[in-house]
Amino acid sequence: MKSLVTGGAGFIGSHLVDILLEKGDEVIVLDNFTTGRPENLSHVEGKINLIETDLSLEKDWKKHFKNVDRVFHLAALADIVPSIENPDSYFQSNVTGTFNVMKACKEFDIAKVVYTASSSCYGIPDIFPTPETAEIRPQYPYALTKLLGEQIVLHWSNVYGVSSVSTRLFNVYGPRSRTSGTYGAVFGVFLAQKLSNKPYTVVGDGTQTRDFTHVKDVASALVAASESSLEGEILNIGSDNTYSINQVVGLLEGEVVYIPKRPGEPDVTWADISKAKEMLEWNPKISIEEGIEDLLDNIDYWSEAPVWDPDSISKATKKWFEYLG
Ligand code: UDP
Repeated sequence: MKSLVTGGAGFIGSHLVDILLEKGDEVIVLDNFTTGRPENLSHVEGKINLIETDLSLEKDWKKHFKNVDRVFHLAALADIVPSIENPDSYFQSNVTGTFNVMKACKEFDIAKVVYTASSSCYGIPDIFPTPETAEIRPQYPYALTKLLGEQIVLHWSNVYGVSSVSTRLFNVYGPRSRTSGTYGAVFGVFLAQKLSNKPYTVVGDGTQTRDFTHVKDVASALVAASESSLEGEILNIGSDNTYSINQVVGLLEGEVVYIPKRPGEPDVTWADISKAKEMLEWNPKISIEEGIEDLLDNIDYWSEAPVWDPDSISKATKKWFEYLG
């Protein structure tokens, strides 16, 4: 099989590339390295075709779709605060980029497209575990742009027959989770704090829970989706569980400092994954205990990550409180 991964130098993409190579695929990666890092693929150098390009611009990157069997579209800007500050660049990357990718998939008659959408589309849900049919309530520009990307993908599946599946990913964590300058996903924040012997900045009282899903389970779900005969379907991908932040810091071990709860944050994220389990014959396998042990074994990856404290977090999230409060 010839597989193309957009955003393959990113956190999730690089784990997906690993699985595809293990399966014996020929792998092409398109990435603009805004948040993806070439280092995430240094262990497979020479084994993949890595191309630096920007999918939001109509450049000559389309030619790489020729003779490709399956496309995994992961390239996107993530994180909440910068999406509030720069809605324009999020629209360009996540909406226009997705539109351009679908045009290329149609032109080159790609047999299967897998899109990675976000559980943030559910906002603060009413139903737990949350099924795919729950009401859509994007709270901030990142959530909106990932949702618009999903709608484009599924619309092109219906109208133009570009066979596609959208996966809604819940709180993905694991080795190589991004360490950019932005205040972002919790594990990057906590692991950098642990390395510098600083207290973990726990939001609220830490009883809120998240469906932390290991990146390797996510990557295997994406591959299963690409190998299924599903078309135009949406599938939640989660761990089949939900864990409190207090549980997480208990496993990481160390001091804690409490910071204010952020507006628009759900108290619980928890995916109903019965559809993915049934339709993909896929099951998440990695428990939070194993996942955190694995992270601690690879903690040096975060040695250059910014170390956040209550004061710097308060400054970095100013716009969050201003616009969502
Ligand atoms: N969180 C925390 N301290 C931090 C950052 C996040 O306790 O410094 C908590 C946050 O309240 C949430 C969970 O960790 O319950 C996951 O946060 P993240 O921003 O990674 O994902 P999201 O809130 O978008 O699910």
